[in-house]
Amino acid sequence: MTAHVTFGNGGFVLPDGTPYERQIVQDYVVDQARHTGNLRIRVGRTLWMVERPSDDRPVVCARCRRPLKVAALHTSGSEATYCAACALH
Ligand SMILES: [Zn+2]
Repeated sequence: MTAHVTFGNGGFVLPDGTPYERQIVQDYVVDQARHTGNLRIRVGRTLWMVERPSDDRPVVCARCRRPLKVAALHTSGSEATYCAACALH
């Protein structure tokens, strides 16, 4: 499986098979959100929108309840928001 990352007018593909590769994808998404803000990542058939939460709109992960300070992920069809670790596990 691969993860397709797109942001602005760029993007690329990362391998997403082993736990180590998934960790790299998660770290990349968080890092990219911190620097460029919004991006999208497609893993398999799931397209995740990655947004940077604002201070006046705090968000917690729907699965682990961790406060999301840098990257909040949600699919286009759902309001539920997840951290990178839960979304891209
Ligand atoms: Zn989480």
